Amino acid sequence: MNVEHKRDQSPSGLHVVIVGAGIGGLACAIACRRAGPPLSVTVVERAPEILTIGAGIHIPPNACRVVASLGLLDKLKQAGGYQVQGFTLRRYKNGNILVEKPMGPRMKTEYGAEWLAIHRGDYQGVLLEAAREAGADILTNAEVIGIAKGIGEFSGKQMVVLKDGKSLMADVVVGADGLWSGVREFVLGRPFPPVETGDLAYRGTFTREQLKSFKNERIDELMEAENVQVWLGPGRHAVFYPLRNKTEYNLVLLVADDLPEGVRTSQGSLDEMAANFEGWDPILNTIISCLKSALKWKLLHFNELDQWTKGAITLLGDASHPTLPYQGQGAAMAVEDGAILAVLLSRLQNRGLSDALGERNTQLSDLLRLFQDLRKRRTEVNVAGAVDTRHYYHLPDGEEQVRRDKELASLPESAWQGPCSFNWGDADYQQSLLGFDVLADAERSFDEWSRRKSREANI
Ligand SMILES: Cc1cc2nc3c(=O)[nH]c(=O)nc-3n(C[C@H](O)[C@H](O)[C@H](O)COP(=O)(O)OP(=O)(O)OC[C@H]3O[C@@H](n4cnc5c(N)ncnc54)[C@H](O)[C@@H]3O)c2cc1C
Repeated sequence: MNVEHKRDQSPSGLHVVIVGAGIGGLACAIACRRAGPPLSVTVVERAPEILTIGAGIHIPPNACRVVASLGLLDKLKQAGGYQVQGFTLRRYKNGNILVEKPMGPRMKTEYGAEWLAIHRGDYQGVLLEAAREAGADILTNAEVIGIAKGIGEFSGKQMVVLKDGKSLMADVVVGADGLWSGVREFVLGRPFPPVETGDLAYRGTFTREQLKSFKNERIDELMEAENVQVWLGPGRHAVFYPLRNKTEYNLVLLVADDLPEGVRTSQGSLDEMAANFEGWDPILNTIISCLKSALKWKLLHFNELDQWTKGAITLLGDASHPTLPYQGQGAAMAVEDGAILAVLLSRLQNRGLSDALGERNTQLSDLLRLFQDLRKRRTEVNVAGAVDTRHYYHLPDGEEQVRRDKELASLPESAWQGPCSFNWGDADYQQSLLGFDVLADAERSFDEWSRRKSREANI
């Protein structure tokens, strides 16, 4: 077997191998390299090239705080990220506003950071460049097919085996390999595929010129607003917002999943896609006509993963907590995971790692359990919250819908406070989701963990 030696980024420190160069893996790589002193990082990505493609994505305040701490806020804005000014929920039949949540500067006041929207490709591009600049080794065309215990001079290390026969030695392996994670299978010792949510997404972007060509005042108004527009209707909803300085627009259509079990994506027809929204706001129908592809994308998740770590191997992002995208939190939670993991690993490195590799492994596996404990509850609340959002977004016309609409209409525009049966309007829920400082919490938790470890060592 051909063992690839890592580049000597930080000779005596931890070497972290991150499987997957998605948003979560790259955020983790940057945070590990920005630690003082930096950890040594190799990212292995199976794709031949890291393509910066996709449609729109939100960076809500909890993720924005993390990317700002990595010094990336200005770069994200230069790449087209902008502060969302409001979140507008609309009635499906006529587009009437049910409620408008003011965002803009109040996000910073209430949650400590902005709420950005950006093109996913631009987001990933900024992260990729930052990871490279920070000194992470990024290997493409590098598919991981197994993880084994190191032997001989590498005893106590993890051996990450690649499809081309090469392998890498790591102190810590991070499975940031997404929804269909192979590292997850390795951690659990069994397959654990995600399950259907009942919904699928159509998504795409189109140009300003396409929308302008309709010469419609209402469309022009929607185009200029830096708001996220959401039409809510029975069993489905639609999300629309600008991208790239209003030269492009993002549209996502969320409908009932009619793909056979096991089919992940399938090319649907434009007519079938549009038929889902027959009888809805005519403006939405006009906007839908801009989409030129009707790729169906099955949405999957799972409620809870028993275990995220095994020894010095752990998971992050969609590998451990895939979610419906209805709170705009999938990548946000992956970014939180990556940054927290870097805080914990770097604090452990600074506290002092054992020279004996076996003992070092025990230290790492203890620390990764702390990581799991810190992250599991928060991400499970998020997955459940997205399912709850689905319920409220997709209510059929009737008593519960009327109650929802009344409650939403009663939320005072100036002060977004107090309880609401729908988590989207509940101040405490939003504060814990968007305002909680996960990095400060990770520092505190490490201190407690470290004190406990010192006490145990002295008994
Ligand atoms: C319609 C829709 C809208 C969304 N909107 C938002 C939003 O607004 N905000 C938000 O925060 N989230 C959103 N999400 C969720 C978000 O896209 C995901 O949660 C996020 O991209 C997950 O990132 P990740 O890094 O964990 O995994 P991924 O992005 O899936 O990255 C995994 C990487 O691992 C690589 N890989 C896999 N297996 C291997 C292997 N064996 N060896 C090497 N490499 C491997 C893959 O090629 C891939 O590059 C949305 C999702 C959908 C479907």
